[in-house]
Amino acid sequence: MTCAENIIPYSPCLGDCTRCPAKHRAVIYGPVQSRRRGRSLGINLYPLKKVCSFDCIYCLRGRTIVKILRPEESPIQVTVDQVTRYLEDALKRVETDTVDLSGNGEPTLYPELEELCREIRKICNEYGIKSLGAFTNSSTLNIDSVIRALRWVDHIEAKLDTAVEEKFLFINRPHTELRLRSVIEGLVRARKELSCELAIQVLLLKYVDSSGNVLLNYSEEDARNMRNILQRVEPDIVNIYTVYRPVLTSFKIERPPREDVELFVKTLRDGGLKVRTFMD
Ligand code: SF4
Repeated sequence: MTCAENIIPYSPCLGDCTRCPAKHRAVIYGPVQSRRRGRSLGINLYPLKKVCSFDCIYCLRGRTIVKILRPEESPIQVTVDQVTRYLEDALKRVETDTVDLSGNGEPTLYPELEELCREIRKICNEYGIKSLGAFTNSSTLNIDSVIRALRWVDHIEAKLDTAVEEKFLFINRPHTELRLRSVIEGLVRARKELSCELAIQVLLLKYVDSSGNVLLNYSEEDARNMRNILQRVEPDIVNIYTVYRPVLTSFKIERPPREDVELFVKTLRDGGLKVRTFMD
């Protein structure tokens, strides 16, 4: 069941997400100038309320409203037919290099992802789009239907903010049944079973609570742990970044010092990983 009157089929990018009149309600948005993907038209599968398996302390979309683990638990807020129609309409109006599944939550929780990706692939081919991508928090990559769906994409941007379970629980605040081990196994599986480009995105941050307690995910030990895990995953590229827009949560998040980031990156590169940084 969808509520069509609250959905905005397409919203162009006005350059400042915090002032966007669409407020996450557009199904197709952009193109935005993405630092990683070039000029990118986004597809948002949750225009009514945010659906995610995480509730990250730095999320730019605010709190997770529907926290679920599996696609069959997800409400359908917009149908495959609506998404494809809206996408075609937008592509007739604007030019873009890439099309990306992203938006208000975790796109791979969409229950009809396989059919959706297949149909979007056809449209992208028809309009000469260079790359179809999917942004994911990596929590669903152990699910057969998700892996089948992602065979239609060219690029996956998969989140992994820490290789330490306690930090994962604090930073990403996952569904209670989710453990870091299964996220990592999903990434290893995706690498083995998918031929698309796999980028791992790591967001480095420091959190200080009201009593002065500090949590960060970029110490030398964090870097070594991350290197060891990513050597198993074997991604094509690791993208390191930090918060660059105001977070929509109540947490006070700080950016890491540049020298700490450089040390973190060096540890990964010394382990044979290809790394890019997006810190400005
Ligand atoms: S995984 Fe993405 S959408 Fe979900 S809470 Fe984290 S940052 Fe927000």
